[in-house]
Amino acid sequence: MPALGIRLTGLSRAELTELVAGWGEKPYRVRQLWSWIYVRLASEWDAMSDLSKDFRRRLAESCAPMRPLPVTHQVAADGTEKWLLQLQDGQTIETVFIPEEGRGTLCVSSQAGCSLNCSFCHTGAQGFSRNLTAAEIVEQVLFCRQDLAQRDRRLTNIVLMGMGEPLYNYDAVAKAVHILMDDAGVAIGTRKITLSTAGVVPRLHAVGRELGVNLAISLHAVRDDLRDQLVPLNRKYNLAALRQALLDYPLKGSRRITWEYVLLSGVNDTPDDAREMARYLRGIPSKVNLIPFNPWPGCPYEPAPAERMLRFQEILHQAGYVTVIRDSRGADIAAACGQLKGMLPGARSRVHAPADV
Ligand code: SAH
Repeated sequence: MPALGIRLTGLSRAELTELVAGWGEKPYRVRQLWSWIYVRLASEWDAMSDLSKDFRRRLAESCAPMRPLPVTHQVAADGTEKWLLQLQDGQTIETVFIPEEGRGTLCVSSQAGCSLNCSFCHTGAQGFSRNLTAAEIVEQVLFCRQDLAQRDRRLTNIVLMGMGEPLYNYDAVAKAVHILMDDAGVAIGTRKITLSTAGVVPRLHAVGRELGVNLAISLHAVRDDLRDQLVPLNRKYNLAALRQALLDYPLKGSRRITWEYVLLSGVNDTPDDAREMARYLRGIPSKVNLIPFNPWPGCPYEPAPAERMLRFQEILHQAGYVTVIRDSRGADIAAACGQLKGMLPGARSRVHAPADV
């Protein structure tokens, strides 16, 4: 099998149709192949038993393997699982599975590393390597779904909330989302996919218009001076610009914007911050996730005390917003929010300039 070749999992159905036609195969072969890849989760060409031998040989000769390489797999006390996955150029990324009552959520990475440098996030501290391709995003889902199925675990939801800023890799993310939503394949619907962004304002509309998935915004502060420090992207797209984009956002039906807010002790956790946040959200159909801060070695912050979090929640509740204090899942294996890092032990991080939008 060639180390490099066509990445089938990065092709839309139309592109796959064109490729297969170019090989002189009948159109119905596309349906069969799509089903092998996305429904039956076959990762070996030889397993695709109803394809002709010639077609299978052609696939083996021309196409790249359809799975990342698992380097490590850890299971936390609460059942959260984390994989360190190696891509074909040796880069490594992390993918996290969060089992819950009645559903299983996969937290998928969109970049190797991250260029945003949010001061409380460990992924940011390790620098940015590169964007993932659509195939590399899709294959995280195929790999984990296949692996989980062997243990009777179901992957029902996807959050683009792992390493990276998905809206700085919009084209690949959009393509991957369309492939994952395809009814004849993985078939995970728009309501079961959430894209989380630090607020790349010029790209927000496209998420609603072109993808229709749920949108989560990492807010973390409602004063520009503070948000400039916590989420440096705010210097480019400030709170007023972000708010205006969300007032104009094409929300479908009864859906709401999800706001994520990490509570940092003595930094952004006062009752005044909560009241200011309620004012900020006014007019935007919203629900709020308060996230306990997950510390990492050398980080300059501490988690807000429980009574501060409860008070913060109560103020938002009283202002009419559904507000949930999220469980911190998988913290004992560093699988929780902001703890992901793709580096193998001993690897050096590289810092690149952020992609411009
Ligand atoms: N770049 C995207 C997606 C990745 S971050 C974004 O900013 O939304 C996913 C979520 O984890 C964000 O809300 C982020 O702010 C949060 N997070 C990052 N570091 C964290 C930490 N140390 N503790 C708790 N949450 C953290």
